[in-house]
Amino acid sequence: QIFMPLNFLGFVYREIRGSLANIDKLFNLLAQVPKIKDTENAETLKTTNPTVSFKDVHFSYGEKRKILSGITFTVPAGKKIAVVGASGAGKSTIMKLLFRFYEPNEGKIFIDGKDIKQLSQDSLRAHIGIVPQDTVLFNTSLKENIRYGNPKATDDEISQVIKLAHLEAFIEKLPEGLETTVGERGLKLSGGEKQRVAIARALLKGASIMIFDEATSSLDSASEKAILSALRDAAKGHTSLVIAHRLSTIIDADEILVVNEGAIVEQGTHDDLLAKDGEYASLWQTQQRNKLEP
Ligand code: ADP
Ligand code: MG
Repeated sequence: QIFMPLNFLGFVYREIRGSLANIDKLFNLLAQVPKIKDTENAETLKTTNPTVSFKDVHFSYGEKRKILSGITFTVPAGKKIAVVGASGAGKSTIMKLLFRFYEPNEGKIFIDGKDIKQLSQDSLRAHIGIVPQDTVLFNTSLKENIRYGNPKATDDEISQVIKLAHLEAFIEKLPEGLETTVGERGLKLSGGEKQRVAIARALLKGASIMIFDEATSSLDSASEKAILSALRDAAKGHTSLVIAHRLSTIIDADEILVVNEGAIVEQGTHDDLLAKDGEYASLWQTQQRNKLEP
């Protein structure tokens, strides 16, 4: 029971930052997360190459403010869809709804044509690997931190995900390699390194759907390249949704959704959107200009 909620940590991390030192507080917080119950006769999700779709999804956390208004999109099996937009636009909320952390007020979310409300939460969540925006590292070895994605994983499986997450070179340089203690009381990892550990962890879970919530922290260009390669390799063979802040990460996405105040305002490939010369194009130009500055 404890294992599963901790997967949410990245999503709720912002809300609990500062209280992490106090584990009781942390669990109180997780206990306050609204509980969603399985329907009677909930179906077990079984799929290896799922299609995910949102149909006219509306959502608000409380009574007052609407967060998502009419979100509709499909991630075809094995494809990569990116979501971009200003902070607060509702990107992470879309991911939380797919994980059924919350339920839409209106509209539906489908996996292979099945309303996720009809699926058991355990089976739904077993199919989704999450790379959260903020990765929590435990005060233990790097290896155990990665193994957390699947406690039953073999050493071979761990080596494999380390390669896919482009962590090999980083680990080779550590004096104790995979046995190095990381976390608050151990080696402090950079934002980019942490996110690659999160990618390895999520891959180890062996889920068919991958959600990447790219960290906003600024990265040096070497880390950015490593993340980019890791994201590419990790998405292969998965149905993936990527929330991106650096547009360079998602040039190769099959479709990009531009979200503004809870609605999709533009969608298409990188080239489509540049040609459209709208919001995405102006965001792209701003990021390119900033790159050129010393
Ligand atoms: P993004 O990921 O695009 O930055 P989010 O989906 O995290 O945006 O948030 C969208 C809006 O919902 C923001 O205004 C945010 O403050 C609000 N919000 C996010 N999480 C919660 C929550 N747990 N309770 C209430 N409001 C929330
Ligand atoms: Mg977010």
